[in-house]
Amino acid sequence: MATNELDAATRHQIYVGRYSTNVANRLIALLNRADKHLMAQIALVLQNAPESFKAAYLDSLLKSVNNLLKSLYEEVGNELQASLRQFAKNEAHFNMALLNNAAGRANVVGSLASVSPNTVYAAAMARPFQGVLLKEALKGIESGVAKRIRDEIRMGIIEGRTNDQMVRAIYGTRANGHADGLLNWSRRGVDSLVRTAVNHTSNVARQVSYEANSDLLRGWMFVATLDGRTTLTCAALSGKIFPIGEGPMPPRHWGCRSTSIPVLKGQEKLLGQRASKDGPVDANLDFSDWLRNQPHDVQDDILGPTRAELFRAKKIQVDRFTDARGNVLTLEQLKKKDKSLFELVK
Ligand SMILES: [Zn+2]
Repeated sequence: MATNELDAATRHQIYVGRYSTNVANRLIALLNRADKHLMAQIALVLQNAPESFKAAYLDSLLKSVNNLLKSLYEEVGNELQASLRQFAKNEAHFNMALLNNAAGRANVVGSLASVSPNTVYAAAMARPFQGVLLKEALKGIESGVAKRIRDEIRMGIIEGRTNDQMVRAIYGTRANGHADGLLNWSRRGVDSLVRTAVNHTSNVARQVSYEANSDLLRGWMFVATLDGRTTLTCAALSGKIFPIGEGPMPPRHWGCRSTSIPVLKGQEKLLGQRASKDGPVDANLDFSDWLRNQPHDVQDDILGPTRAELFRAKKIQVDRFTDARGNVLTLEQLKKKDKSLFELVK
């Protein structure tokens, strides 16, 4: 029994999400470690500034804080790029497996052109997502944080807040895990950026492999994860086929989980057809229905054994695919999972 590309890509996309969580967690830990240093610097600014001069000299007083933010986001950027470079390698391999699988099922004669991981990485960095390149997106978070800190202090001075109150507004409270501080905005920003950048790299890798094999392909199909979190744009595009090098390539928005699969020449009829007795399925299949049709071990893998059991007993609904924060995959684990996707082939 051969895995169809839709099933493989859907599962791979879940694993990619877990890998994103891993990368995001690492970068957020980096931000958290820097917070104390940053707050000490901010406290110093507040203490050393004579009351009457605070507002007027705020920008120059904040120079040290801004320099700290600059080097912090440089570090975040370097870490993220290093992760994406490694991840690009994985995606280049996965896409070859996906294309090979499609070619095998469509009885395509001829050899597939492989794409080097470096080409994939270079293309991912060169093609903008959501209109911005990775560096600009990080710069946007950095300047957003700097602006929020400056605005808070400026307003604090005007409204006569104490230094402690301003520090609390910026850093948040320990009781709330600092989620109530404005620095939390940067953690959410980095989380969203990582998820979008990882999916962007995955999708560019996919597109580059299509372009290298365009002679064998009829096009590519947009595949959205159809659940309660899918945007209308992505839901409307799901299942549509576009010529190679054209069409609305995912990610379509921040945090987009959409992906694509190859459509080989003459493969139209085979596409999305399952080897099971359930008959054919299409790319517009709802996530919950898709999951219902998966073997037990796949359901266990995606939901965890306990929830999977409840899902099978129809005691819980899975209308929104959520992944626990602790559900993370390292690159090595991602590789193993990917390998298992095509083990049934041949
Ligand atoms: Zn989307």
